[in-house]
Amino acid sequence: MDLQEGVIPALAVDTPVDYESLTQLGSIMGSGGMIVMDQNTNMVDVARFFMEFCMDKSCGKCIPCRVGTVQLHRLLTKIRQGEASLADLELLEELCDMVKYTSLCGLGQSAPNPVFSTLRYFRDEYLALINSTTQ
Ligand code: SF4
Repeated sequence: MDLQEGVIPALAVDTPVDYESLTQLGSIMGSGGMIVMDQNTNMVDVARFFMEFCMDKSCGKCIPCRVGTVQLHRLLTKIRQGEASLADLELLEELCDMVKYTSLCGLGQSAPNPVFSTLRYFRDEYLALINSTTQ
């Protein structure tokens, strides 16, 4: 997994490392680097780590990336701290779509990828951190 690529679950470990196969899984080839994580890694932390990278690297030219990555990072932090509601999770997903489809360049367009893929394969880890008493 490269910095802006998506995560791939263990059940897809036999997937060929080529452009088409990784795209089907919601990831991209990038530079071809991969990071292997075990079951002790919290996937919300992973998404938050990559969002922090994109937030720091945003050049600030367009608002969706400049503001969107900051807000996505804020929401991921809120979820990780057990202070988020289901409405925050919905907002996270809506904001990911907005940043992906309205950012000017590849950095902003791919910034939500780790959130999309961790939600796709590890949504239970997000839900476990959602505070059902929070509005
Ligand atoms: S998407 Fe690209 S152009 Fe827009 S702020 Fe991010 S890095 Fe700059």
